[in-house]
Amino acid sequence: MKFVYPEHHLVKNGTLTNCQICNSAKMNLILDLGNQPLCDSLLSKEMLHSPEITYPLRMLWCQDCCLAQLDYCVDGADVYHPDYPYRTGITRELVEYLKSMSDSLISKYNLTNNDLVVDIGSNDGTLLSGFKEKGIKIIGVEPTNISKIANEKNIETFQEFFTNDVANNIKSKHGTASLILATNMFAHMATIGEVVSGIETLLKDDGVFVFENHYLLDVIQGGQFDTIYHEHLRTYSLKSLIKLFSYYDLTVTDVERGSRYGGNIRVHVTKGKDKPVSENVSLLLKLEDESGLYDLKTYEKFAERVKKAKTDFMNFILTVKKEGKTIVGNSCPGRCVTLLNYYGVDSDLLPFIAEQPTSLKLNMFLPGKQIPIVNNEILLEQQPDYVVLLAWHYAKPIMEQLKERGLKSNFIIPLPDLTILEN
Ligand SMILES: [Zn+2]
Repeated sequence: MKFVYPEHHLVKNGTLTNCQICNSAKMNLILDLGNQPLCDSLLSKEMLHSPEITYPLRMLWCQDCCLAQLDYCVDGADVYHPDYPYRTGITRELVEYLKSMSDSLISKYNLTNNDLVVDIGSNDGTLLSGFKEKGIKIIGVEPTNISKIANEKNIETFQEFFTNDVANNIKSKHGTASLILATNMFAHMATIGEVVSGIETLLKDDGVFVFENHYLLDVIQGGQFDTIYHEHLRTYSLKSLIKLFSYYDLTVTDVERGSRYGGNIRVHVTKGKDKPVSENVSLLLKLEDESGLYDLKTYEKFAERVKKAKTDFMNFILTVKKEGKTIVGNSCPGRCVTLLNYYGVDSDLLPFIAEQPTSLKLNMFLPGKQIPIVNNEILLEQQPDYVVLLAWHYAKPIMEQLKERGLKSNFIIPLPDLTILEN
């Protein structure tokens, strides 16, 4: 069955002039981060000898629906290449977080072994395993090779991009879903119309779609410009999401805020119209308005703060170098590619980035700046004067773990404002 959705909900590759949700042309340039490489296309040693592809990276803001968005869409096949290196199950904090998410949803929606839960962008199946343990039926959809890890763990996973056709296929084999999930992918895909229409197709009546993503209010208040990269085509406000689902037979019925990704939003969307809506929705809309999220001046202030954080960091790192002290990076989340490329930090300034021994990024090089990514054992051997926490949104647990292991270095938290913590 063909599903007709608004033409602009299929975001075309290349330069965009109109809003991805409401098609308005009233788009304001907030921040220009220059041309940058894809943050999850890490370089192998051999690739250091070849040219690198970069794409424009700019943040625009639609004054009609309050969606922050990129003005350049890279082909999804290039972004989510089969060797995409992100794996959920290796971050301990994330595994615990996803377990609490499945527990909370099972209880909120009274899920039993008659229910089917589908996770879009299911990665290695970590979130679904929380439902499986309780006997609930599960299906994952994951376009990258990481789906193989899930299938090996007996989490049935289709290695595909989610579309309305894939939704129809799952529906004919397994029936309709009570719950569809999408964590950290719903801001990413160009095929909004395919994904949302697929969700509408696959959900049972009154079924719920729950997704989580970074949230515009947190990005703006937290000066988190490093959440802007090509994968994040959109940064949602609640206002923009209500506009998005108004085009479909779906209603935003509840919303929660959390701390993941340095501040996120969990949105509950129920199939059908005229559904009961939690007061959380009107309260958050009010907060967005009172916080200036619907006012261009707020975004201008955000851009000023970002530029100051850059100047402060560069002054600091150059001073450290002049004094002959050592400074290195720790953790290589996708967002640090934006930060280091925008700041202009290369391996002369930051000789390496340390990663945990299980990371798929080990022995690769940072796109754009070619900084080597190495096993974090090196931190303990070298005890550098300063360690920059590039996964600064998880600064506290990371500092605790490293100190427990015997690290004596001082810590640098780069955002929202440069902070130096003496150890
Ligand atoms: Zn808009």
